[in-house]
This record gives sequence, C-alpha cells and structure tokens, in this order.
Amino acid sequence: MTAINLGMPTPPAPTLAPRRKSRKIQVGKVAVGGDAPISIQSMTTTPTTDINATLQQIAELTAAGCDIVRVAVPTIDDADALPAIAKKSQIPVIADIHFQPKYVFAAIDAGCAAVRVNPGNIRKFDDQVKEIARAASDAGVSLRIGVNAGSLDKRLLEKYGKPTAEALVESAVWEASLFEEHGFHDFKISVKHNDPVVMVRAYELLAQRGDWPLHLGVTEAGPAFQGTIKSATAFGALLSQGIGDTIRVSLSAPPVEEVKVGTQILQALNLRPRKLEIVSCPSCGRAQVDVYTLAEKVTAGLEGMTVPLRVAVMGCVVNGPGEAREADLGVASGNGKGQIFVKGEVVKTVPEAMIVETLIEEAMRIAETMPAPENDGQAGAPVVSVG
Ligand code: SF4
Repeated sequence: MTAINLGMPTPPAPTLAPRRKSRKIQVGKVAVGGDAPISIQSMTTTPTTDINATLQQIAELTAAGCDIVRVAVPTIDDADALPAIAKKSQIPVIADIHFQPKYVFAAIDAGCAAVRVNPGNIRKFDDQVKEIARAASDAGVSLRIGVNAGSLDKRLLEKYGKPTAEALVESAVWEASLFEEHGFHDFKISVKHNDPVVMVRAYELLAQRGDWPLHLGVTEAGPAFQGTIKSATAFGALLSQGIGDTIRVSLSAPPVEEVKVGTQILQALNLRPRKLEIVSCPSCGRAQVDVYTLAEKVTAGLEGMTVPLRVAVMGCVVNGPGEAREADLGVASGNGKGQIFVKGEVVKTVPEAMIVETLIEEAMRIAETMPAPENDGQAGAPVVSVG
C-alpha cells in the first residue's frame, strides 16, 4: 500500500491579485470587506409572507453553502413576516426594500442583519437618510446601497442617455455621500447591470472612488447556462483584480443553483478552499472509454464531498497517467481496464466495469483521513451513492 501524506497543513493557494483594501462591515455574524472571506449570497423565491416555505428555502441555501440570504419585502405583510424569518434563519437575513422607506424601519426592528435599499426606487429617500442612518446605527444593522441599471434615477438617465457605467457610479457615490454626511459608514454598494462589460467597468470605476465593500452582481443574467457564463466572466474579471467582497449570482433558476455557481467561481480562483474537483478530459478520437459517462458517474457518486479531493478521470494513456498522477486519485483508462492512481502511484488495475466503484471506494477511504476545510464544520467523508 502506498504511503499517503494527507491532512497536513498546506500553504494558502495562490490568487491572481491581492484583495482590494476595502472597509469591513458586519452583516450579522458575517463580516464583509477587509480581510473577510468573500461571501456568497442568494435570494429566496418564495413569497416572504409564507414563513415556513421561506425558512425551508433558506435552510436549503444554507446547506448549499450560502452565507447571507436576502428576502423581498414588497408589502406590509412581507414586513410583518420578517421577525420570524430573521429569528429562525441560520444565516443573516437581508431585507430587500425598493419602494417604501417605512419598511426599512420595520426590517431594522424585525432583527434583520441588513437592509438593501434601492435609492432610485425609494421615493423621498433623500429626506429619510438621516433617520434610516440613525435607526440602522442604533440597531447595529448595515445597509446595501443597491444601484441597478433598471431603476436608475431619472436625472442621471437624462444626463447620460442610458445606464452607463459612469451613470451607475455617479448614482452610487451620490447615495453613499448622503449616508456619509450623517456619519454612517456601515454599508456596501452594488452597481448592477445585465451587460457584463458595463458591469465590470462600473465596479472598476467605483473601486477607485472609495473603500466601500462591494457586492458583485450581474443583474438579470438570464437562464442557468447563460447566467452562469455571464456571472463567471464578469466576476472573474473583477475578482482577478482583487475587486469584490461578496457575490450574488442571479439566475432564472432555483436559488440553490446560484449558490453552487458562486461557490465554483470562488473555488476556481482560489478565493475559497477547493473541495471536490473532477479533472476530466474532453475525450477525443483516442479515447478508449466513455469519458462523459465515467466523469458523470464519478461526479454523481462523490456529490457531497467536503474535502479538497482532486479526482482525475482520463480517457486514454496519452495524458491519462500524467493527470492521474497529479491528482489525489485518478484513473487512466485503456484496453478495457483502468489503472487507479492514488497520490501518483498505481494502486491497482481494474476492469472497466469496476472503475467507478473503485474510484468511489478509494475516494471515501482518502476522505476519511482528511480534515474538512476550515469553517466548514462538516466531516470529510461524503455521503456516497454509486451512480
Ligand atoms: S486523455 Fe486521451 S482521450 Fe482524453 S482528450 Fe487526452 S488524448 Fe483524448
């Protein structure tokens, strides 16, 4: 049996750029900005008035790795549901308020961790800043100033003709100044647009104007496939410059999918510890095994893995042995057989029909010896099902 050196402390994985120096604020128990880990947010899709359904969805999001959740507060009935939701949620709850300043006060009183305000939509917002700042400050509640291309102030739309990056930034800086005039600094900012190019430019400009923590989002990014690509592209462009303190992927799909995509983006950039990573080849004319099916079955069988295990699934002997050796665990297939590698050494050769089962067995054995990533709180071993 090969000696395996697992569970040893490893140095931090390299990132593409140092993090931009932003001010740190609290969203309940989660710090945002400064040296705090980049957090993942999502938003419930249940009616907020349906407290049980909303709490159920929050529990699912929490299990998927969501750090902070936002709930919509369009009516007084939704505002009335906030105390129960804020009390029972395991993760900080942000009330999302667009039109009614009085709901901001209700959300603060309800024990929400933060409130998102959209100054472009909240009528008479400017008159109420002082009161909002005082109430938030007294309650230890932070805010997000959420500027959105779809609800930009009319004055700025007239000035710029459309919601350009410059217009979004001018709006955000103006709204920030209204709070800062009252000595209130516990807020983050977002400047969302559905076009990743405009969005990236807006955040780049905003990042130069102050040290506010920034909440990244491509708004109305679209259905899962398109939205994932738009978000990954835009977030990647910004995070690779160190810009961004918390992220929300917006998909026309169940919110758990948003959390999964956000997690993958952060893991890909080494901004969150990597968990299960399947390194599988695209297959080509040399493949001697059905790589797609093999990779899918291994992925499905290892779903729920919480340790940073890298599993290589390769179709032939060209790159197979090399990649399999680099991974914690791997298979290189050929001639109806699979060579199983653990930490660079061939530990066994099995018939093709046994590859998936053997990889899963080996993965479980390795996972049991590995500590779960920090802050995870879960055991390393996955709940495994053979796909
Ligand atoms: S590992 Fe083999 S089958 Fe897979 S892409 Fe490379 S050459 Fe093709």
